[in-house]
Amino acid sequence: MALGLRSPWLVTRSAFDAEDKRLDIYLDFPRGSGFLCPSCGAGSCAAYDTEEVTWRHLNFFQHEAYLHARVPRVTCKTCGVKRVSVPWAREGSGFTLLFEALVMAMMTMMPVAAAGRLVGEHDTRLWRVLHHYVEQARARADFSGVARVACDETAARRGHNYVTLFVDLDDRRVLFVADGRDATTVEVFAKDLVAHSGHVENIAEVCIDMSAAFIKGINEYLPAATITFDKFHAVKIVNDAVDKVRRDEQQSRPELKRTRYVWLKNQGNLSAGQLDTLGGLADRNLKTARAYQIRLTFQDLYALASRQAAEAFLKKWYFWATHSRLGPMIEAAKTIKRHWDGVLRWFDTHIANGLIEGLNSLVQAAKAKARGYRSIRNLKAIIYLIAGKLELGLPT
Ligand SMILES: [Zn+2]
Repeated sequence: MALGLRSPWLVTRSAFDAEDKRLDIYLDFPRGSGFLCPSCGAGSCAAYDTEEVTWRHLNFFQHEAYLHARVPRVTCKTCGVKRVSVPWAREGSGFTLLFEALVMAMMTMMPVAAAGRLVGEHDTRLWRVLHHYVEQARARADFSGVARVACDETAARRGHNYVTLFVDLDDRRVLFVADGRDATTVEVFAKDLVAHSGHVENIAEVCIDMSAAFIKGINEYLPAATITFDKFHAVKIVNDAVDKVRRDEQQSRPELKRTRYVWLKNQGNLSAGQLDTLGGLADRNLKTARAYQIRLTFQDLYALASRQAAEAFLKKWYFWATHSRLGPMIEAAKTIKRHWDGVLRWFDTHIANGLIEGLNSLVQAAKAKARGYRSIRNLKAIIYLIAGKLELGLPT
C-alpha cells in the first residue's frame, strides 16, 4: 500500500540488511497476468519475456531502499514486442518517480553536487533527472499570452560566455535562455516563442539595454514591438561617463584617487565617511563634481510624471551635458540622444529590467547550483527550474 502498487504488481518479499543499511523490496506479477501495451494502450497483452530491473526508491528511515522487479515485454497484436511501463518509474530511469520528485525538490534548493552527496548518488545521475523534467516541462510550456518581454544578458562565467534571459514581464517568469548576446539571440528567442504557441506579432513591448545587436534583432524578428530602453542601463551609461571623467582628472588631482564609489553610488547608499569625502570634494571646482551633477540630474528624469515633462527636461539636460566641455559626458549625452524615443518610452510603459535584476539573484543562485559544471546546458536547466515557473508534473 505504501508503494501505491496497482494490479497485477505485488510485493513478493523484502530483505532488510541493517549492516549495509539497505532495504530491498522485490516485486512481481502472477503468472498469466495481462498488461497494457505501452504504445497503443491495448489491454491484456501477455508477457513474452522479462528483464530484471532495479530502482532506487525513497529511503526507509536512514536506509537506502531499492525496488526490484522483472519487467515483462509483451506482444501486442498491433505494435509487436514492447517493454511495459511500470507505475512507479519512468522508462529508462534507475530511480522511482517519488525518488526523482525528492531530488528535484532538493535541486531547487541546493547545488546539484550537494544533493548528490546527501542522497549518496553521483551528481551526473541527478543532472540527467533534472534535464529530463525541465525538458519535458518546457516542451509543454505555453507562451500564447506573452505580450511584454524584457531581455538582458548575464555572464555565465566570470568575464566571458554570456547567456541572455528573455523574461515575461506579466507572468514574471524566464521564457528562454539564449546562448550569447548577438543579433541572432533575438531570432532564436522568436523561434522558441513560436514553438511554444507564442505569437511574434503579439509582442508589443520589449525592454532592452542599448545594445545595437538587440535593437537590430528586435526590429527584424519582433517587428510589432516598441522598444523601451532599460532605465538602469541608461543611468549606467551616464554613470560610467562620470567615472571616465574622474579617471582622467585624477592624473592632475590626486585627491580624487580612491573616490570611485563616492561618485558612483547614490548618496543614500554612502557611508558617513564617503559622504564626508564627497562634501569635501564638492566645492573644489572639479570636473568630476560637475559630471556628477549632470548624472544626478539625469537620474531625476525618472521621477517626472509625464512623457511630455520628461522630454522637455531631457532636452535641457542634453543641452547642458553637451555644453559641459567634458568629453565623456558629451559622448554619453549623444548616446542618449541616439536612443531618444526608447528612453522616453519608459514614461508610457514603465517597464524596466528590474524584474531581471530581481531574477538575477535567482540566476546567481543558479550559477552556484551549477558550479563545477562548465556546461551552459546545466546552467540553463537550473535557470528554467528555479525561474521558469514550469509545471514539472512530478508526483507529490
Ligand atoms: Zn500496442
